[in-house]
Amino acid sequence: MSTASSSEGRRITPGLVGAPEEVDLVVIGLGITGTGVALDAATRGLSVLAVDAHDLAFGTSRWSSKMVHGGLRYLAKGQVGVAHESAVERGILMQVTAPHLTRPMPMLVPLTSGVGRLQAAITRGGMLGGDLLRRGAHTDSDTLPRPRHLSATETARLVPALRTAGLRGAMLGWDGQLEDDARLVTTVARTAAAYGAHVRTRARVLTASGTSVELRDETTGRTTTVTARTVVNATGVWADTLVDGITLRPSRGTHLVLRRETLPGLDVSVFCPVPGATNRFVMVLPQPDGTIYVGLTDEPVEGPLPDVPEPSEPEIGFLLDVVSAAFSRQLHRDDVVGAFAGLRPLLHSNDGATSDLSRRHAVLTSGTGVVTVVGGKLTTYRRMAEDAVDVAVAGAGLVAGPCRTHELPLLGAAPRPVLAALEEPARLVRRFGTDARLVLDSAREVSGLDDAELLAPVAERVPVTLAELLFGVTHEGAYDVDDLLDRRTRVGLVPADRATAVPAAARALEIAAARSR
Ligand SMILES: Cc1cc2nc3c(=O)[nH]c(=O)nc-3n(C[C@H](O)[C@H](O)[C@H](O)COP(=O)(O)OP(=O)(O)OC[C@H]3O[C@@H](n4cnc5c(N)ncnc54)[C@H](O)[C@@H]3O)c2cc1C
Repeated sequence: MSTASSSEGRRITPGLVGAPEEVDLVVIGLGITGTGVALDAATRGLSVLAVDAHDLAFGTSRWSSKMVHGGLRYLAKGQVGVAHESAVERGILMQVTAPHLTRPMPMLVPLTSGVGRLQAAITRGGMLGGDLLRRGAHTDSDTLPRPRHLSATETARLVPALRTAGLRGAMLGWDGQLEDDARLVTTVARTAAAYGAHVRTRARVLTASGTSVELRDETTGRTTTVTARTVVNATGVWADTLVDGITLRPSRGTHLVLRRETLPGLDVSVFCPVPGATNRFVMVLPQPDGTIYVGLTDEPVEGPLPDVPEPSEPEIGFLLDVVSAAFSRQLHRDDVVGAFAGLRPLLHSNDGATSDLSRRHAVLTSGTGVVTVVGGKLTTYRRMAEDAVDVAVAGAGLVAGPCRTHELPLLGAAPRPVLAALEEPARLVRRFGTDARLVLDSAREVSGLDDAELLAPVAERVPVTLAELLFGVTHEGAYDVDDLLDRRTRVGLVPADRATAVPAAARALEIAAARSR
């Protein structure tokens, strides 16, 4: 049985120098789905090459709401199987594979004057249904407590920034929240590499068949062909550019970024009812780094897909209006310090708007034998990867072990009490779990700097540390300032903060380069 080592495994590397020319499985795309496939296949004993045209988490996987969903919205649509699957995967992530990168997230639905009796009953029923899903998935109530009703006084005490006029109380439920989506992707990629997968960024697949890929090393421009027993396409909204027979109908979801002080005292997420709509909410999601995300929208997208989608002004205005109706402070455009948008990789179906398309994933084999895995969501990546590798292994007649990922902790994972007892700085523990010590030791070793310098925030309002940036370069395959600020950390979500953090990122790259010379 293969084993992982966070310090001795393969490193994530930009470009294709030294990459194998023949493997059991090539996976294209290093979002959550592709990294999940790489980990699943490597831990079944297969040789794996996993590539991305840009970087880890370059696509949709970094633009999510950063939530670990229990599948409530599927339950509301009668999709009981999908809802159960989501709840099971949420439990696996929060209790086994990534307790260090997830936390229970209280979510409060205020019962404002705009919420009628029927809507209130639906909300209450939904939360109770969500709790049934939790129990059905055997997730304990220490991890995700039971929902309850709050009086108006309790609600105002819990969220002082709420508008109190007409407030009748609230429902308080629980779901999962990620430390960060790109951090989950990076950790899955590191774990896959630790189990022997070759993980290469800046390696674009130009053409793919079931037994080979033609690649271009984006750092050198050189092209090369790698042969494989099977090829998995995990390129999300770009999946139909590599194979025929798939039609995607992407939809854009936009979030805003606010400073924490814009809505003071906000420690729980608030689901603001959209006036005039039944069962539609705008989420206000406090983050541990001093920001709040507000989302999200659902806009069909036509035409060529951009590498980095842009939020539209009408979406920004809509989100500000809905939140302003629920909170006592009227929000304005200049409260918005950042905004980001992502494209949902939804499979085309003939019925309904994109918001009603099924979010369940699909595994499809093309005429040339490429196995495409698409749809789903971050929460269910493990199951998507398992299904895709099952199909790929069977199709190619490969000999592989059984799937192990449901019981396989990612690097740095440990039970919550163990994490709570660690002595390393809380920020590093939140982002690296038990590997916080490795991050610090390796930063000390590569830089020769003292802890005061390695652990200080790199700029005003930017809690990121030089130690993390150095680790991004030495252990996580970061190649340039963009990788460090937009994916290994998320400073880039607030452009003004990003500008102040660029010198620190450049310094980390210089220190690591000087060390390797
Ligand atoms: C706004 C929004 C909010 C969401 N919120 C949540 C949430 O809170 N919780 C949740 O569970 N899910 C959420 N989701 C869903 C989830 O984010 C996506 O389902 C998931 O991230 C898709 O991941 P992926 O790996 O399939 O695709 P991507 O992350 O898009 O990865 C595809 C990768 O393929 C690479 N690629 C493309 N073409 C090539 C090529 N030719 N060669 C090499 N590489 C290539 C790209 O660079 C990219 O990195 C949300 C989605 C959106 C849009």
